[in-house]
Amino acid sequence: MDIDKLRNWKNGVIRRLATGVSGLLKGRDVDVFKARATFENSRTVRLQGADVARLKFKHAIIATGSRAKALPPSVLPPELAWDAAAALNLEQVPPRLLVVGGGYIGLELGQVYAALGSRVTVVEALDSLAPGIDPELSKPLIAALSKQFEAIHVNTSLKGGRKKGEGVEVEFDSGGKTQTAVFDRVLVSIGRRPNSDGLGLETTKARVDDKGFITVDAQRRTTDPRIFAIGDVACEPMLAHKASHEARVAVDAIAGKPSAFEPAAVPAVIYTDPEVAWCGLTEKEAVTLGLKVKVTRFPWAASGRAVAMSRTDGLTKLVFEEGTQRLLGMGIVGAHAGDLISEGVLALEMAAVAEDVASTIHPHPSTSETVMEAAEAMYGHAVHVAPAK
Ligand code: NAD
Repeated sequence: MDIDKLRNWKNGVIRRLATGVSGLLKGRDVDVFKARATFENSRTVRLQGADVARLKFKHAIIATGSRAKALPPSVLPPELAWDAAAALNLEQVPPRLLVVGGGYIGLELGQVYAALGSRVTVVEALDSLAPGIDPELSKPLIAALSKQFEAIHVNTSLKGGRKKGEGVEVEFDSGGKTQTAVFDRVLVSIGRRPNSDGLGLETTKARVDDKGFITVDAQRRTTDPRIFAIGDVACEPMLAHKASHEARVAVDAIAGKPSAFEPAAVPAVIYTDPEVAWCGLTEKEAVTLGLKVKVTRFPWAASGRAVAMSRTDGLTKLVFEEGTQRLLGMGIVGAHAGDLISEGVLALEMAAVAEDVASTIHPHPSTSETVMEAAEAMYGHAVHVAPAK
């Protein structure tokens, strides 16, 4: 692996996309100030670092995002800890990398560094990697990671770490048993917190809840009628595509158009290999809500395209409401699952029933057929799965 080439390529991609966005803003006559902004009241922000000292506004949209939660310095010396941003700098490939937190970031970046040659250990506080995700979907991913990572410790918490030579010696507690190990770097991926502090919101009528999210209504208007908030700073899930959609809702509301953030589903994707993607209700969530569900599956081993790609490590799973046969949720694990999940989101937005999906012609061969066949299974048969005797 040529890490310098890889970093240059990555930086080139970011530059190209960022330049593209700057161009789009220019083309729409948007003025951009590179400055730190704080509210002075419900009509003005003060700018630090720009030629202009303050800006008056009629409406404002706050989109300040989130930052990584850190471990207390008493648990881990901060100079040895990486957050996602530091890991994405690709400055070095630590021979031994400890990942604390087996969620989105820990698994995505842990897998990247394992591919680059790091010996990766993951420590997760709960009883499984990717907790909260349908275990049927996370299973093939965990199987892949078990081969790629040196060690996975679940139900484990970090007790402490201290500098040792160029690295860090850590202690973790696994079911009452304490283990010690030495790593070169520690990636801390234990969640993120909203960037709502230091904005001067106390000078406005906008309020922040006890988790630090700015309180917003369905139009993403804060408790100050002139100020809106979108994205990670407004509410979960902390996903970029949710933020873009909220931005459209807020802008429409400011323009006086009827608008509300009320999606049928917000898709989620873990960009590992295989990818895991889902939308709507999981089987467990539907059952918890008291719904009578029928679950159908299509294993990718029966997909011609997956066989041809040597990627049979996939599963497409649909959750339907039993009587109405309405689709409640879709989950996919497999290569490019993140591209396939949009069909599920559209089906949920259109309130599709099993027959809508099953009778929609899908291209052959494609992994998208697995969605159609899983819907066919609602009627007791999918063409490419042997029928039950
Ligand atoms: P996460 O919530 O996905 O995962 C954090 C994990 O850390 C959890 O499994 C949690 O149980 C565990 N944990 C918490 N404290 C711990 C501790 N002290 N010791 C060991 N384990 C601990 O958070 P993340 O991976 O940091 O990502 C933050 C957010 O960023 C995500 O929730 C997601 O919304 C967003 N994100 C999304 C994507 C994507 O869409 N592909 C990618 C990256 C980040």
